[in-house]
Amino acid sequence: MAAHPDYLWRNGELVKWEDATIHLTDLAWGAVGAVFEGIRAYSTADGQGLNVFRLPEHMQRLRDSSRMVRLPISYSVDELVGFTIDLLRANDIHQDTYIFPLVHSGGDMAKRNDPTSLVAAMYMRTNPSATHLCTGFTQRARISSWTRISDNVMPPRIKNISNYRNGQLANYEAKLDGYDCALMLSPQGKVSEAPGACLMMIRNNTLITPDVSSGILESITRNAVITLARDLGMDVVERTVDRTELYLADEVFLSGTAAEITSIVEVDHYAIGTGQMGEITRKLETMLLGIFRGENPTYANWLTSVYN
Ligand code: PMP
Repeated sequence: MAAHPDYLWRNGELVKWEDATIHLTDLAWGAVGAVFEGIRAYSTADGQGLNVFRLPEHMQRLRDSSRMVRLPISYSVDELVGFTIDLLRANDIHQDTYIFPLVHSGGDMAKRNDPTSLVAAMYMRTNPSATHLCTGFTQRARISSWTRISDNVMPPRIKNISNYRNGQLANYEAKLDGYDCALMLSPQGKVSEAPGACLMMIRNNTLITPDVSSGILESITRNAVITLARDLGMDVVERTVDRTELYLADEVFLSGTAAEITSIVEVDHYAIGTGQMGEITRKLETMLLGIFRGENPTYANWLTSVYN
């Protein structure tokens, strides 16, 4: 298989991978305001089809993010959905895949501080990305010594590339210290999220997750998991969460497009529950994988089918 897809999508058209270049001097400032999305497509259970998970919601958030950084894109959500399908078809993708659209400043960087002269450019790429759901994947986390960015600093509500420096510092620290990932606290000292995923805990059969004012991205997977938990009859509470609540939780997991559902079995060397993936986490990941594969008609409206 080719190490890269045949096509990218750029500014309204499919372009050959080799032809999708920019000038070297465009490096640096063009990325400061850039916003992106992370989207996943999953092969259907029979391996023939491909479903994109909550594609319109991701494209709506991309539009919101680009408006926030004053790089609004003119494409409607429907158009962006159509472009994504075109790209997946052009690359003949039938395997689990990550889709990455980026909106960046394509104008004259000498005018980078003038919001009226910004010109939005956009591209989209795909790359294979196998699911880790139902493979027994678990992680050990530490509370980061880095503080999560906040709404009046660099709004975590939008997917601005620059925001990810904050999480990168935290993850580097965690990995160098022998953990798998970081969890971040807000400037108020409350649990916020992981660098690229939202955090959920189960205590006494209730799902508790930091509220949207806790310095988190308004995550699409978080919303899906909340819906599933409620549909399973669980109570769901969105509120501020203390760090020590995590240590005492029955289960902790991350949720997000890349993280899918990732069981956290240890935080700061405290075993969570039994120290293994919890029952509810397992139930939710099984349910989610069935939905992604197109096997659960109840949530079929979360899927965009690429080939029919
Ligand atoms: N928080 C951050 C900082 C993220 O980057 C992501 C991944 N997009 C998430 C949460 C999860 O969001 P979503 O479920 O919409 O992918």
